[in-house]
Amino acid sequence: MAIRTVRELGDPILRKRSKEVTEITEKIEILVEDMIDTMYEYDGVGLAAPQVGVLRRIFVMDVGEGPIVMINPEILETSGEQSGDEGCLSVPQKAGLVTRPNYVKVKAYDLDMQPFVLEGEELFARCVCHEYDHLDGIIYVDKVEGELKTTIVEEGQE
Ligand code: ZN
Repeated sequence: MAIRTVRELGDPILRKRSKEVTEITEKIEILVEDMIDTMYEYDGVGLAAPQVGVLRRIFVMDVGEGPIVMINPEILETSGEQSGDEGCLSVPQKAGLVTRPNYVKVKAYDLDMQPFVLEGEELFARCVCHEYDHLDGIIYVDKVEGELKTTIVEEGQE
């Protein structure tokens, strides 16, 4: 288990476009394991590779049903709209209102480079859009409506 350093807003790597994964090397496997460990360590719902300083099109997420790994994700379909507070491990102790699609269908590849398609609503859709944006150098603060709020995190609370 290895926890990687999460890059924070202001780090130029977060603004770069990540490159496609062409083959699953041992390095990629270790990266994905570390990303999952890092996401759980910091109580995140998702984490994208550029957030740990690697410009590859990979993100991991867990919206309550276990970890999902998405390699070279492609958003196939979106519909509806939801507005809600969003946060990001790269923007600690902040939150802001972002409007996202309420439904997303996404295609991605797993660690065997096998394609799969997943669809979901609400938190799933929000998370896929947020993490996908990271792969193109977009951070949710770019999309916040109104002020970015400071969230006071007390010991023992998320
Ligand atoms: Zn984020």
